[in-house]
Amino acid sequence: MEKVIIIRYAEIHLKGKNRGYFERVFGNNLEKALKGIRHEIHRTSGRYLIAEFDEEMTDEIMRRISKVFGVHSYSEGLLVENDEDGVFAAAKLVAPQSGTFKVETHRGDKHYPLTSMEISARIGGRLLDRFPSLKVDVHTPEHTVYIDIREGGRALVFGSFTDGSHGMPVSTAGKGLLLISGGIDSPVAGYMMAKRGMTVELLHFHSYPYTNEAAKEKVVTLSKLLSDYTLVTRLTTVSVTHIQEEIHRNCAAELNVTLLRRFMFRIAERLAHQTGAGCLVTGESLGQVASQTLEGLTASNAVVRLPVLRPLIGFDKEDIVEVAKKIGTFETSTLPYEDCCTVFLPDFPAIHPKLSFIEEEERKLDIDALVEEALSSREIIKF
Ligand code: ATP
Ligand code: MG
Repeated sequence: MEKVIIIRYAEIHLKGKNRGYFERVFGNNLEKALKGIRHEIHRTSGRYLIAEFDEEMTDEIMRRISKVFGVHSYSEGLLVENDEDGVFAAAKLVAPQSGTFKVETHRGDKHYPLTSMEISARIGGRLLDRFPSLKVDVHTPEHTVYIDIREGGRALVFGSFTDGSHGMPVSTAGKGLLLISGGIDSPVAGYMMAKRGMTVELLHFHSYPYTNEAAKEKVVTLSKLLSDYTLVTRLTTVSVTHIQEEIHRNCAAELNVTLLRRFMFRIAERLAHQTGAGCLVTGESLGQVASQTLEGLTASNAVVRLPVLRPLIGFDKEDIVEVAKKIGTFETSTLPYEDCCTVFLPDFPAIHPKLSFIEEEERKLDIDALVEEALSSREIIKF
């Protein structure tokens, strides 16, 4: 008898001929998620089994698996020989000793000599003999003992299912570059794209010394939290200090934010090309702040050719906060450090900036030189 964690996968099985590819990537992602923990991964039809791990690591393994996209559900269980005595030995350990219960059997191996009903009845009967305070209730039992008869003379026995993260395995849907601030929205945007299978690389702009080390640390912490889902363990940082100073010194104050955002997009596009990312991802949501009006979004889009994905565009703040809480980034996101967008924030930012006015103001700057200078400040933080 062996202790295992059973993982069932989600949408992957829909992918027809590409199924083999999706399964391979999914298996790799499980490996990555369990890095540093002793274990083995076995694939059986429609399931992965984690085996050979230290018992005290069970909770940590389950915690990590709960964040791997493509996982439909998972269970702690026992792998045994599929003869009746073997199954009963495991059922005894999984079953409660009192209360109501039922046994539910699934037969993956259709050549097994007993039907599912017969297996449930036999094991259920033996459990009742063994634990006299147990009662059968097939409709609303307090506990269920699940038996899954597998091929190759084996069976899985377990007592519960935990819902997984669903979605698609990351790295099956291209690569995007997420502009990550220290705020609530951008980590949620990254989470959502990763959930659809995208590899999400991270880029953060800082304005040191106007923004401080703590602000940067906060983004590193957010990136780490996000990496449980994205499996990407590096963050690129770029300084936009000089760009902000130049904008502040030369251009109309109400365009500060719009102009800065255009620089961010230009720099992001350059870095996207270098890392092979096919799109930019932001946490923008329509109308949330002055720069996220249709005109604001258009002004930033105008300087890049790559598509800009904004998974939160139609979300209310409350909806975003709910996801941030669920994925564990909310607390860090709400720590009170300044983001570069808030440095030099004008009293009245332009809400409907006109492209002709933006371009006129931008002509006062040496755009290429500022972009190059910012790119040369790039740092890569691995965690
Ligand atoms: P967030 O909660 O993600 O900070 P926000 O509501 O504060 O978003 P803005 O500050 O206008 O909105 O930023 C909009 C988007 O621009 C962010 O979601 C993020 O994708 C990107 N962004 C903003 N500031 C930075 C930054 N310092 N570095 C990288 N990307 C940024
Ligand atoms: Mg922000």
